[in-house]
Amino acid sequence: EVAILRLGHRPQRDQRVTTHVGLTARALGATGMYLSSNDTGIVKSILDVGERWGGKFFVENDVGWHSCIRRWKEAGGTVVHLTMFGLNLPDVEEEILSRDKILVVVGAEKVPGEVYHLADFNVAVSNQPHSEISSMAIFLDHLMGKDALVQKFPNAQVRVVPCKEGKLVEEIKPEE
Ligand code: SAM
Repeated sequence: EVAILRLGHRPQRDQRVTTHVGLTARALGATGMYLSSNDTGIVKSILDVGERWGGKFFVENDVGWHSCIRRWKEAGGTVVHLTMFGLNLPDVEEEILSRDKILVVVGAEKVPGEVYHLADFNVAVSNQPHSEISSMAIFLDHLMGKDALVQKFPNAQVRVVPCKEGKLVEEIKPEE
């Protein structure tokens, strides 16, 4: 199981990026996202996508990040904080791959220092600055390999029929 903890989301300013963190996590096989701010608009837009495109991705609004991390560790999970200042992914990936319940923590502007101490791993996806969406996507790809791209999304109302050219989306009947 892999879930995401999104820290420091500023309603208005980070709306688009946080929505994309959630949609990317969902598409690449995470089970859900904990949002450490109160923004019901984000929850709604991600759940609306899930309703139409299937799967069981959850979004939990306004969670305390400290207790979220603590509960995850108490349940035997591993906390991976993505930060450009951490150990580079190729150097820790093997150790992380041996864990089976991972909380991926991504920040926005500035991440509280305590997160660095609470995390089991502070991991960089290269030690160069980029973004929470790109670092999370690359991390999930490394973690799950090809499985990340071939997820099943049960109870979808629609699905894409992959096309070499053009766009094709078909409606799915509920009994299928
Ligand atoms: N400058 C901020 C800081 O020092 O915490 C980070 C800002 S960055 C736009 C937002 C988030 O993207 C970070 O909290 C981190 O999760 C992620 N991020 C950016 N570059 C990264 C990298 N090279 N490796 C891992 N995560 C990265």
